[in-house]
Amino acid sequence: MAEKDRPKAHIPKGRPEILFPLFASLDALDGVGPKTAKSYAGIGVETPKDLILTLPVGGLDRTRRESIRDVPLPGMATVEVTVGAHLKPKGRGPYRIDVEDAKTAFQLVFFHARGDYLDRTLPTGSRRVVSGKVELYDGIAQMAHPDHMLPPEEAASIPPFEPVYPLAQGLTQKGVHKAVTSALDRVEILGEWIDLDLVRERDWPAWSDALQAAHRPKGAADLSRAHPARERLAYDELFAHQLTLSLARAHRRRKPGLVSKGDGALRDKVLKTLPYKPTGAQIRAVEEIAEDMAQPHRMNRLLQGDVGSGKTLVALMALLIAVEAGGQGVMMAPTSILAGQHHLNLKPLADEAGIVCEILTGADKGPERRAKLAALAKGDIHILVGTHAVFQNDVTFHDLRLAIVDEQHRFGVRERVRLSQKGAAADILVMTATPIPRTLSLAQYGDMDLSVLDEKPPGRTPVKTALISTARLDEVVDRLRTALAEGRQVYWVCPLVEESEVYDATAAEERFKMLRAALGDDAVALVHGQMPSAQKNAIMAAFKAGDTRVLVATTVIEVGVDVPNASIMVIEQAEIFGLSQLHQLRGRVGRGAAESTCLLLYRAPMGETATRRLQVMRETEDGFRIAEEDLAIRGAGDLIGTAQSGLPRFRIADLEGQAALMALAQTDARTLLARDPELEGARGQSARVLLWLMEQDKAIRLLDVG
Ligand code: ADP
Ligand code: MG
Repeated sequence: MAEKDRPKAHIPKGRPEILFPLFASLDALDGVGPKTAKSYAGIGVETPKDLILTLPVGGLDRTRRESIRDVPLPGMATVEVTVGAHLKPKGRGPYRIDVEDAKTAFQLVFFHARGDYLDRTLPTGSRRVVSGKVELYDGIAQMAHPDHMLPPEEAASIPPFEPVYPLAQGLTQKGVHKAVTSALDRVEILGEWIDLDLVRERDWPAWSDALQAAHRPKGAADLSRAHPARERLAYDELFAHQLTLSLARAHRRRKPGLVSKGDGALRDKVLKTLPYKPTGAQIRAVEEIAEDMAQPHRMNRLLQGDVGSGKTLVALMALLIAVEAGGQGVMMAPTSILAGQHHLNLKPLADEAGIVCEILTGADKGPERRAKLAALAKGDIHILVGTHAVFQNDVTFHDLRLAIVDEQHRFGVRERVRLSQKGAAADILVMTATPIPRTLSLAQYGDMDLSVLDEKPPGRTPVKTALISTARLDEVVDRLRTALAEGRQVYWVCPLVEESEVYDATAAEERFKMLRAALGDDAVALVHGQMPSAQKNAIMAAFKAGDTRVLVATTVIEVGVDVPNASIMVIEQAEIFGLSQLHQLRGRVGRGAAESTCLLLYRAPMGETATRRLQVMRETEDGFRIAEEDLAIRGAGDLIGTAQSGLPRFRIADLEGQAALMALAQTDARTLLARDPELEGARGQSARVLLWLMEQDKAIRLLDVG
């Protein structure tokens, strides 16, 4: 069927015509029929465009040799031979043909040979160039089913280095090669979308040349991701992604926001009462936030800081800016325990500043709740701390200027939207204690602005971390007995054995009974996700007050409560936890003056990966380093769960290894949009084509609605 006769189904409006051939149906390519076209789905290919962006994963060296003796066996050899005798199979054996190259004799071997095909293609006495894998079998060198068998005058068609593509059921290398060649014929020369200085500096080929080069490697070095052609194609993906995020960011920033400028009076008051000085990182973060809040657009900023990095102070300073500007601020936490904790921390400081800080959770009912809501609507409450309860319809603010959301990962997008409805133009600050490797935060939060607390307050005593086999559980319990006698407090975390909370609760229940028997009934408490929240709160409060000494918990429970006297963290079956989870849990201790200990209990024998992970925990307390190691061990997709994280799947770019390239793409994208917000200039137009090419149609729509 000719191209023009094909039904042009579902061509999205606006797609540039120059790209049509690349979005045609796959069976328009040589060697692809309707049936094979379906097989390509197995390698994620639905259009010629997908195919050209599917690069070889390896290559075969088919350099012509004099003899198979010139290559180490088993190995790939391409040699010219004289065909000798055909040894037809007796019974069920293979068909063998003696051949001789310049130095030695060997055999070509064929299983299930049919008819006279071999007689015709390899007549005795003829010269042939054969290429394939040579192996020793019973001491005889043999090449089974050569990939190529051609008369010498036709042998030039054998590529000296042959790319190898990923395959799926129903696909062959030969078929894919043919299809790729035909898809590459559809590639047009497109205008450059990358900054020209960058292209020159990196020595990157133009897009179409890069594709040709990447699909026609001349040697193993050309397959490296550092090769300019491959690097450029990876950059294209990252740039398209960052351009989409930057467009979303720019789109949001165009919406009017509130200008919140404070005179600093409240902040000064609070800082004067603090027994410490803010760290450099805290000062920097507050400055970034203040500058953003003073702009007439909505802030959408992520505050990233490891546990204990002092995010609370930064949050408070931001809230005070809102209040100084005559407005209100709200801070939301994922659980009522955490909300209570924030309130407890913020209230005394708010008191010092002479402003009102209140808490609102699901526990507020009746007249008390009504009174709070009235005060909030009048503007008599300046800072509200709460849970999801602040989203309820009857909650109205007098002048909401800033919303802080603690822990991005537990807050849905819908909640954030509803929150912003409470204050139509309120600035948003998201806080996360999960250190994310830079490359991932760029990929995931590239539409936000980022402040990082990369410096910890001074004076923290490092946590001693030890790995102990569960076989030595008795010793651990003995150590706890001594520690309790010294007045210390202990967290004991039971693992998430199954995706079932009930099951975990049972496991924790058993540990609880055992520890009670060993350490005394009054000393040990249990908290897990199956309990009603009032009960959970009471148990946490008793632990915080020191009434109970050992808190057995499952991970579903938020252990985010600050208990400075708790200085021992025991984590059972630590080998099955993720690194960042271990890091979060360990961060619960080491908050007080006492030296703290983290005991990672594991079940022997441990696999290599688990061992490496736990060793990382022993070596460092730096959350960012731990996150980088986690990424290296597990890979990007695994780390956050690609689907739910909204992390894009890149075909060529590699999130683990190309962090710097990702950062560059973000800068480049933001710079381009700053100069050409509508993407109307020459480069802007090319960038639009890139977005279409990468199927970022949504981003284009953002542009067109303005
Ligand atoms: P995060 O919320 O980031 O985990 P917090 O805000 O809870 O950390 O701070 C952890 C502890 O460090 C708190 O006890 C806090 O009072 C203290 N802290 C915060 N900033 C500083 C600082 N600049 N110097 C000393 N201690 C600080
Ligand atoms: Mg905190």
